Amino acid sequence: MMENSLNIIEKMNPNQKINYDRVFQKVRESWRKEEVRPKILLHSCCAPCSTYSLEYLAESADVTIYFANSNIHPSSEYTRRKIVQEQFVQAFNERTGHQVQFIAAEYEPNVFLQMVRQKHLENEPEGGKRCSACFELRLDLVAEKAVELGFDYFGSALTLSPKKNSQLINEIGLDIQKIYSVNYLPSDFKKNNGYKRSIEMCREYDVYRQCYCGCIYAAKEQGVDLKEQNRAAINFIRNQK
Ligand code: SF4
Ligand code: SF4
Repeated sequence: MMENSLNIIEKMNPNQKINYDRVFQKVRESWRKEEVRPKILLHSCCAPCSTYSLEYLAESADVTIYFANSNIHPSSEYTRRKIVQEQFVQAFNERTGHQVQFIAAEYEPNVFLQMVRQKHLENEPEGGKRCSACFELRLDLVAEKAVELGFDYFGSALTLSPKKNSQLINEIGLDIQKIYSVNYLPSDFKKNNGYKRSIEMCREYDVYRQCYCGCIYAAKEQGVDLKEQNRAAINFIRNQK
């Protein structure tokens, strides 16, 4: 029986902010005691967040990266990030001897755009309600896929990013766990200098680091030149062939 982290959280001090890395470590301890190696479906939206997260997890679990990111705009940028993610997984396996797998969902940008419009979240700042809805949409897909393919846990590499609220991501993951027959894997990959290590790994593996989170709204808010972004992404894709 794989450990459900809600049992661990229940025993923690309710007046203290939950340290989700501590929760993860306790879950990992339970795997060691039971001598199991769980299968984890880990969501990631481009390579950087997956670098250290994989280094941290792959020792004790069989990890598959799930690229499910219909929020990314434009489609050329989506394809670029997907290619970079898959190439990173291959390079990581070659260097470490691990056998991380990679799968990708369909690109359905209209599903994301419709969700944002229906909920009137177009003008939310980055980090606001649109982002919560965006995490929820994607983590829901990850849980669904994890059930379909028989994984023990689903989780998110995004807790590595200092720009992402890992408390919120973990709360959403634990909520989603209640409706699917698969456990959420709590994490806070930025602990233990995880973010610093991810930057080193991006350098070591020569990984592309994007300059905006992904959606058209954040890109516009940040003043990203989307035409230039599109041109660069198309060039990148052409050079792969
Ligand atoms: S949160 Fe940002 S850096 Fe991390 S995987 Fe997503 S787009 Fe990449
Ligand atoms: S800023 Fe990032 S997390 Fe927020 S809605 Fe856009 S793509 Fe999603």
